[in-house]
Amino acid sequence: MRLLLIEDDDRIAGPLTEGLGRYGFTVDHVRTGAAGLAEPAAAPDLVLLDLGLPDMDGLDVCRGLRARSAVPIIMITARGEEADRIVGLELGADDYLAKPFGVRELIARIRAVTRRAGAPAYAPTGALVLEAEVRVPPARQSFSGGQALGPLAISRRTREVHLEGHEVALTPREFDLLAFLADDPGTVFSRQQIMDSVWDPHFFGPTKTLDAHVAALRRKLGDPGWITTARGVGFRLTVPGDHTEGAG
Ligand code: CA
Repeated sequence: MRLLLIEDDDRIAGPLTEGLGRYGFTVDHVRTGAAGLAEPAAAPDLVLLDLGLPDMDGLDVCRGLRARSAVPIIMITARGEEADRIVGLELGADDYLAKPFGVRELIARIRAVTRRAGAPAYAPTGALVLEAEVRVPPARQSFSGGQALGPLAISRRTREVHLEGHEVALTPREFDLLAFLADDPGTVFSRQQIMDSVWDPHFFGPTKTLDAHVAALRRKLGDPGWITTARGVGFRLTVPGDHTEGAG
């Protein structure tokens, strides 16, 4: 899937292009409204439009794009641009995202918008299929004995987590982190992948906050074994009791 990113701030465009690239998107990046309105070498499947551009009002870019094409448009707005968002939607933009946002959130919006637009639903990678419900199987082949493991149910629709039938109260960020890891139980996600997806694509600060959230999740799930550390790499979701590989 080819995206046209119209964004003048390289501190946002750079990590965003890289993050989306990791999930299989091709990103054509331009820095001005004029370049965004120029006839593209390859027609984009979707446009990501920053409203704060140096050469012209992003809303005029939106109007210009919509005048000649039905391409889905997602606006990228700064805080406090609520009036612009409303006008943009009236001008034909399909959705908006307020900065800061994560790559994962953006991909979810892209999928929703392209689905609404009648394009075939797009799943960038197997690891990122956003299903309404993910259930970690209580016993997998690698778990010897198939002991009674509390089933962990994560509902993306209601953003609720149940462990053995009891609701686990999580903060929004803890939920996002758990849901991200649960996309592919057993797979190690790098710290960078997690930061990009659950936090911001342009998060360059210390990643200690990730460790704090992992610790909180382990505590709330009642067993540190739910999230194992791959030293020097990242984290993965596992069912407690599986000690075949180094838990930490
Ligand atoms: Ca800008």
